[in-house]
Amino acid sequence: MKHSGNPVKPSEAHALSGLSKADWTRGVPDEDSVAILAARFARLIKAPMVLFLQGDLGAGKTTFARAFIHALGFKGYVKSPSYGLLESYPVSGKTILHLDLYRIEDPEELDYLALRDLYDEKSVLMVEWPRKGVDHLPAPDLELEFGEDTETRFISSFAKSIVGFEFNREVLQDF
Ligand code: ADP
Ligand code: MG
Repeated sequence: MKHSGNPVKPSEAHALSGLSKADWTRGVPDEDSVAILAARFARLIKAPMVLFLQGDLGAGKTTFARAFIHALGFKGYVKSPSYGLLESYPVSGKTILHLDLYRIEDPEELDYLALRDLYDEKSVLMVEWPRKGVDHLPAPDLELEFGEDTETRFISSFAKSIVGFEFNREVLQDF
């Protein structure tokens, strides 16, 4: 699968070792704060990019994806792709591919989605439960972790490629 930041070339290994310098965590106490963060993503995102959305059931992955797709300008309803596995949104010159692998039992089920054909230079791929698709997904640029501590819900972002690192840095500058 074609992808700008991956697989990692040996010459990039040094740069990748510093990727964590741009990682960040943000408290998101309510859905309004998720919408603000998602709007920032919508403003800064450049295709192609792959985002893995990790965290327990109910942690806020779909809420973030929905807010992001709306912030890009999509007017319709953004449903959770839990049943259909994949939803696709053509918006603002990009194609947002929203994938939810919660219900798959075998990563090979992913091959029937023809993701290989759908994912191109205009794509932003967002994947909930990416670990269920091991070896059948393009490598991520960012891993977003959705969680909750005693105080509040939070979203953390971990860069996994140089593209993801640059993106995280821009998001940080905007805080
Ligand atoms: P996931 O996709 O991770 O299973 P959802 O995005 O469906 O989780 O969110 C589950 C519930 O939590 C929804 O009812 C949603 O409205 C709520 N929720 C999500 N994020 C937040 C937040 N930051 N603050 C308050 N409620 C939230
Ligand atoms: Mg979900």
